[in-house]
Amino acid sequence: MEIFDNIPFRLDIDTLFSRVHIGKESEDAKDIQDLLEIVSPVASPKAIYKVCYIQSKDYDTVKVGGVTFSNRVLRVNLDKVERVFPYIATCGRELDETISPSDDFIRQFWLDTIKGMALETGVKYLKDYLKRKYALGGTSSMAPGAGGQDLWPIEQQKQLFSLFGNVEDLIGVKLTDSFLMIPNKSVSGISFPTKIRFESCQLCARRICAGRRAPYDKNLVESYYKEG
Ligand code: SF4
Repeated sequence: MEIFDNIPFRLDIDTLFSRVHIGKESEDAKDIQDLLEIVSPVASPKAIYKVCYIQSKDYDTVKVGGVTFSNRVLRVNLDKVERVFPYIATCGRELDETISPSDDFIRQFWLDTIKGMALETGVKYLKDYLKRKYALGGTSSMAPGAGGQDLWPIEQQKQLFSLFGNVEDLIGVKLTDSFLMIPNKSVSGISFPTKIRFESCQLCARRICAGRRAPYDKNLVESYYKEG
C-alpha cells in the first residue's frame, strides 16, 4: 500500500474563474481571491492505492486482496486481468475546514469548485504514478455506486474501504452510514489494465447528465449478463 498525503496542488485561476462563471474584473473576483488566500496554504490532495491480485472468480463474484466483491460487471471486466489497483483519492479534509458550514451559498459553491479541482489533481497524480511505476498501458476503473445501483451497488464501498484499513486515519476520508464519502470531493474504485476502454456511463441509462463520458450502449449492457 502506498499513501500520497501531500500531493502538490497549484490552482489555475483562469480555470477557476471559468468554472464559477465569473469575470476577472467583476466584483466577485476580489472575494474569490480572498478565499484563495485562505485555501491555498492548506490545500493538500491525497490518494492511497494498493496492488491486489485476483484470487478467485465466480459467475458474479470476484475475490480481490482477500475481499469478495459481488458484481457481474466487475467480474466480467476483470475476466482476463490478474492484477488490479484499488484506490481512494480526495481533495483533502483541510479544505472542508477553511470556511464555516453556515457561510453563504456562493462561497460554499466556490469552495466546492476548488475542492473539485484539488480532487482532479489528486486523481491525475495517482493515475500518472501508476502508469509510470507499473508500466501500464490503457486502464479503466469501476467504482461502487457509479452508474446506479444496478451497475455496482454503493454498499460495496464497505468492502473496498476494508482493503485499506482505517482510511480516515490514513488520508482523512470517512465513509458515512449511507456509504458516501466525506469530504464529498473524494473518489474510490478499482483500476484495472484493459485494451478496451470501459466507462460506467456506457451502462448507465440516465438521460440527462452533464458528466456523461460515453454514450449509453444497450447491447453492451446485455453482453455482460450472458452466461460465461
Ligand atoms: S452518465 Fe452520469 S450518472 Fe451515469 S455513470 Fe456517467 S457520469 Fe455517472
